[in-house]
Amino acid sequence: MDCLFCKIIKGEIPSSKVYEDEYVYAFNDINPMAPVHVLVVPKAHIKNVDEINGENSANIAKIFEAIPKIAKACSLENGYRVITNCGEDGCQSVMHLHFHILGGKKLPETMA
Ligand code: 5GP
Ligand code: ZN
Repeated sequence: MDCLFCKIIKGEIPSSKVYEDEYVYAFNDINPMAPVHVLVVPKAHIKNVDEINGENSANIAKIFEAIPKIAKACSLENGYRVITNCGEDGCQSVMHLHFHILGGKKLPETMA
């Protein structure tokens, strides 16, 4: 499958890895929107939030178990934001589910 993030997970495209376990891979965003901008992805290919279901939702639990560990490793003790974009109106540009961790500064209150 021609999926950018599947290729990153497999190491076919280089990335700056921040965290990895059996289910989850996390790496620095190539175009950071904050001092810390990490993308957290399931190793399983899930397109976006619309494709989460009873069969694959254990991957999402694993992601949210990993996020506090990643935040701690990135020194985000003062807080951070977790975002996922879904579909056209959500401005999703890579069709492999990913959660943005943004932090390292006081983020703007409004998002839209
Ligand atoms: P989306 O807009 O789909 O929510 O987020 C996709 C994110 O992937 C963007 O923030 C973009 O900067 C990042 N991105 C796109 N291509 C690459 C890449 O090749 N490597 C890395 N590390 N990030 C990428
Ligand atoms: Zn994929």
